[in-house]
Amino acid sequence: MTAMQDLLVLQDHDAAVDRLRHRLSHLPERAALAEKEASLGAFSARLDDATGRRDDAVRAQRRVEDELAIVEQKITDVEKTLYSGSVSAPRELQALQADVESLKRHQSTLEDDVLVAMEVREPLDEAVRVLEAERANLDEGAQQLLAAIAEASAGIEAELASEATARAAAAADVPPDLLAHYDQLRAKLGGVAAARLVGSTCSGCHLSLPATEIDRIRRLPPDELAHCDQCGRILVRP
Ligand SMILES: [Zn+2]
Repeated sequence: MTAMQDLLVLQDHDAAVDRLRHRLSHLPERAALAEKEASLGAFSARLDDATGRRDDAVRAQRRVEDELAIVEQKITDVEKTLYSGSVSAPRELQALQADVESLKRHQSTLEDDVLVAMEVREPLDEAVRVLEAERANLDEGAQQLLAAIAEASAGIEAELASEATARAAAAADVPPDLLAHYDQLRAKLGGVAAARLVGSTCSGCHLSLPATEIDRIRRLPPDELAHCDQCGRILVRP
């Protein structure tokens, strides 16, 4: 193989590495994951809002329940005094009886308030439950995508490692000056520095070279560098 042919082998490996790197950074699962993460973000705001409203309802219910507990305790205390025998004056007993009745009316109002608070809270609890289930679904989807990305990446990384080994072996066969020139051109020309001359066409830019130029190139010694006069790539003659 001539140094020029070696260059083509090197170019094939470099192209393979570029393709693998492109595949690695453009995995379709990555786009799907980004989409899923965007919906998760929007979803969090909805869930936070629903949770906030549910928590307000829970607090409101608890306030009424606490008030009810205090009234119930007062009723117990007053009734205890009433039936303890420690109070015997009829007027005092009457006053205590009136207290109990008034407290019981308050108790009944508060019991109604608790029922109302529970009715307010119920649909809010349900809304939070539904949203949490949906978020769990989204989370699970994101986890699956992450696993798929990890698996695909590992496969591509393995291919990249073997291409890197093959590239190093191919590069060892190319004279250092030529290799440096090739690397420079590759950086400048979108990754393709060496192209086959097929007939009168450069396979790098797919343009035809003028007949006089083809004639000149054909006369060059096999290891002498020739470049496409259109794209500047190294032309490898058959
Ligand atoms: Zn060209």
